[in-house]
Amino acid sequence: MYCTADAEVEKLRQQIKIYVDNARDNELKLRHFQEQELQFIKSAGLEQLLETFFVDYRQRFRHDAVSLLLLDPNYEVRRILDNLGIEQQRYPDLHFGDNPDMLHSMFGRRLRPLLGANQPLYSKQLFIGQARPPVSIAALPLVRQTRLIGCFNIGSLKARRYTENSATDFLQRMAGIFAVCFENAINNEKIKLLGLLDPLTGVHNRRYFDQRLAEEVSLSLRQHKPLSCLFLDIDHFKAFNDNYGHQVGDRVLQEVASVIKSQMRLSDVLGRFGGEEFAILLTNTAEKEALEIAERIRHSIEAHRLELNDHSLNITLSAGCSTLDAQQKQQYHDGLGDQLIAAADTALYTSKEGGRNQVSFRVLEAATEDPEIKD
Ligand code: GH3
Ligand code: MG
Ligand code: MG
Repeated sequence: MYCTADAEVEKLRQQIKIYVDNARDNELKLRHFQEQELQFIKSAGLEQLLETFFVDYRQRFRHDAVSLLLLDPNYEVRRILDNLGIEQQRYPDLHFGDNPDMLHSMFGRRLRPLLGANQPLYSKQLFIGQARPPVSIAALPLVRQTRLIGCFNIGSLKARRYTENSATDFLQRMAGIFAVCFENAINNEKIKLLGLLDPLTGVHNRRYFDQRLAEEVSLSLRQHKPLSCLFLDIDHFKAFNDNYGHQVGDRVLQEVASVIKSQMRLSDVLGRFGGEEFAILLTNTAEKEALEIAERIRHSIEAHRLELNDHSLNITLSAGCSTLDAQQKQQYHDGLGDQLIAAADTALYTSKEGGRNQVSFRVLEAATEDPEIKD
C-alpha cells in the first residue's frame, strides 16, 4: 500500500518535472522568438527587413534553409527593389510568383501552415536555389487582411526538425508579424516613391531629378566619367490641348513619356521637368553617344502614332544636349549641375529656332576656377 503511494508520488514528481522542463523550454523558445520578432519590427526599411530575415533570422535559429515566396503579379515589389538598388542575385532565396494557386493548394482554404517531412515537391519549389532541398519544412502563409501575400519558409536537412505540431503557434505568430512588417515596409517605399514620381506620366518628378543631378555630377567628377544631359520639349504641344482638349494633351504626355522610357538604359534618369518638358541624365555617356540616344528618341517619337477614335496624331519633339566632360579638370563643382542643364536648355532653344523636330548640342564651358576666389 505504502509502496504504491510512493510510486504514485514519484510518478507525479516525474510528471511535474516534465511540465516544468517543458514550460522552461517554451519560455526560452518564446524569448528567442520574441527577440527575433523585435528585430523584424525594428527593421528601418525593406532592405533591412530582408537582411534580418535572410541573415540574422537564419543564423539565430541555425536554419539550414530559409526562403520567401512573394506574390507579386504586378511586379510592384520587384520595381521597389530595383529602385532601392537591391539586385535579385543578392537574395537567391527570395522568389516571386504571379499565381496564388500553388500556395492555396499548399495551405488549403483555411490557410493553415504546412509542416513536416515527406514534402519533396513543395520543398523543391520553395527552396529552388538549394543544392540539397530540405528534408523537413515549415511553410507559413503570409496573410494581410485575409489576403495571401506569400509564404515564409524554413527548411531542415533533418527529417524530424519540423513535425505537424512543432512550435506551430510560435511560427505562425512570427510569420504574422513578418507579414505586417513587410507590408509596412512596402507601403513606406511606395509613399517615398510617390513623392518622387510625376503622377500623370509615372516618370520621376523634378525633385527627384534635381537630387540625382547633384549625385551624378559628383560621381562623374570622382570617377572621371562623362555625364550627358538631354532636354526634350514636345513641339507645338499647346495645339493638342487647344484642338482636342486637355485630356488628349495628357495622353500625349503619357505616351511620349513611355516612348522615351523604352529608348533608355536602366542606369539613365528620366524626369518630367515641367509641363511638356522632360530631362534625361545619361550616366557615363560622352557627347557622341548622347547625341545618338537623343536622335533615337526623336525618331521614335516621330514614328509613333497616338490613336484617337477616328484618326491618329503625329507628335514631334525637339532636343538639346550637353555633356560634362569629366576628363577636364573640374575642381569646383558647385553649380555645375545647373550649368549642365542650362547648356542643354540653350541647345534645345537652338533646335526650336532651327525648325523643331531636331537635336542640337551645346558645349559646357568648363568651370575650373572657384568664382569666389576669382575676383
Ligand atoms: P513649342 O513647340 O515652342 O514648345 O510650343 P508648345 O506649344 O509646345 O509650348 P508652350 O510652352 O507654348 O505650351 C505648353 C503648354 O503645355 C501650355 C500648358 O497649358 C500645357 N501644359 C502644361 N502642363 C500640362 C499638363 O499636365 N497637361 C496638359 N494637357 N497640358 C499641359
Ligand atoms: Mg516648353
Ligand atoms: Mg513645347
